[in-house]
Amino acid sequence: MELRAEVLVLGGGMAGTVAAIAAAREGAAVLLAERWGFLGGAATAAAVGQFVGWETEAGRRVVGGIAEEIVQRLVVLGASDGHTRFRMSTGHVMDRVQYDPELLKPVLDMLAAEAGVTLLFHAALAGVTRAGGAITQVELLTKAGIAHVAPRVVVDASGDLDLLARAGADFLPLEAGEAMQPATAMFRFGPVDFGQFHAIPAEGLKTLAARGVAEGALARAALHASRVEGTDDAWFNIGRIALDATDPLALSAAEVEGRRQSLAAAGFLQHAVPGCARGRIIAFAPQLGIRESRRVRGLHVLTEAELRAATPFDDRIAWGAYPMDVHPAKGAGLTFDGFGDDHAYAIPLRSLIPAGLDNVLVAGRGISATHRAHAATRVMPTVMAIGQAVGIAAAMAVRGNAAPAQCDIAALQDALRAGGAYLP
Ligand SMILES: Cc1cc2nc3c(=O)[nH]c(=O)nc-3n(C[C@H](O)[C@H](O)[C@H](O)COP(=O)(O)OP(=O)(O)OC[C@H]3O[C@@H](n4cnc5c(N)ncnc54)[C@H](O)[C@@H]3O)c2cc1C
Repeated sequence: MELRAEVLVLGGGMAGTVAAIAAAREGAAVLLAERWGFLGGAATAAAVGQFVGWETEAGRRVVGGIAEEIVQRLVVLGASDGHTRFRMSTGHVMDRVQYDPELLKPVLDMLAAEAGVTLLFHAALAGVTRAGGAITQVELLTKAGIAHVAPRVVVDASGDLDLLARAGADFLPLEAGEAMQPATAMFRFGPVDFGQFHAIPAEGLKTLAARGVAEGALARAALHASRVEGTDDAWFNIGRIALDATDPLALSAAEVEGRRQSLAAAGFLQHAVPGCARGRIIAFAPQLGIRESRRVRGLHVLTEAELRAATPFDDRIAWGAYPMDVHPAKGAGLTFDGFGDDHAYAIPLRSLIPAGLDNVLVAGRGISATHRAHAATRVMPTVMAIGQAVGIAAAMAVRGNAAPAQCDIAALQDALRAGGAYLP
């Protein structure tokens, strides 16, 4: 089977979906290939349940564009109460948008359809053909067998960067003392008496979480939950599993361990946590939530120092404000380094372009960033902002018959602003 596309996006997570929509709005013929039967990636398949990191601590909004359009659609559907603030289990006050992962699926379907994106669901990467610095063909395993696509520009938005791995791209190593962030299996639990649950003071939550860890019921010292709008249920994010998510057998064992941890945690909620006595597990997220796996080596490697300095890159295409949130692979703790006040940081286009590959862009959590910088840029508002830039850059590369690295930065920035993105 031959499929035609100017831009192929592999992976329909929040980054890939927004990239596909942005590229199609710019007039490119876009094929979005996704292994599940719905879009959203971690947002839906791993049921993360909240978008965090829209604003600086002082409350300045630094992400807009298609990400904000998605929020507005969710609100209209009754699937979100929009932008709010909450106190995290670490004690930090953070902005967030809670949403119902089920209703996010049709919201993304609609936006993709309106933009003219061709969706190819139930399609997994099967092979990549590379000639020098160009990917010339991608093979996808579909219900009808192998489908061949020969796009002008390829976007790897698969989270784990499977396409780039097949293409022999270079990835960034962990440095001494660093460990890959662990995964979490999310579970939906209810009914919760939120009056009682939210009345637990911050110190009380910490004590309860520490008790859960001491009893062996919680893998992580947190009782973090995002409420499903219009229900008495919440998605709980309180598990922790260290693994290399690109190892198929380790990934399989981790899915089993995730359900075991969820059952143990639900038992603890029922007997120990105010407001949870009548609850039970309603659903396990369809897949494990992966925080970190491959990070590409790009034309620029974004660092913690650059985030802290808010380096004003000439080729900046997005801003982020989320802190460096590192979940340790071992132990139950968390390090959460806020940037303070009104601090935000820019992300350069060069960090989205893999070194040595001319017709490829990366969207999402695998951009070229150090382990510490990735811990900040991985959240969904930021990956959506990156996705919008990637989509427009891909369409511009097709139009100009040029490599994304050669794209007219000022024109890209103008197009982003015209699309509602935050880009001062
Ligand atoms: C447990 C957990 C909690 C988190 N909490 C928050 C939070 O509260 N707020 C927040 O904003 N962010 C949070 N994050 C971070 C955020 O959810 C992710 O970093 C972000 O969603 C990544 O988006 P992405 O599009 O880059 O990748 P993904 O969401 O991983 O999307 C990749 C897509 O590619 C598809 N795919 C992968 N491989 C293939 C293949 N070989 N062939 C075809 N398709 C493929 C996948 O099915 C998926 O749809 C959390 C992450 C985790 C794991």
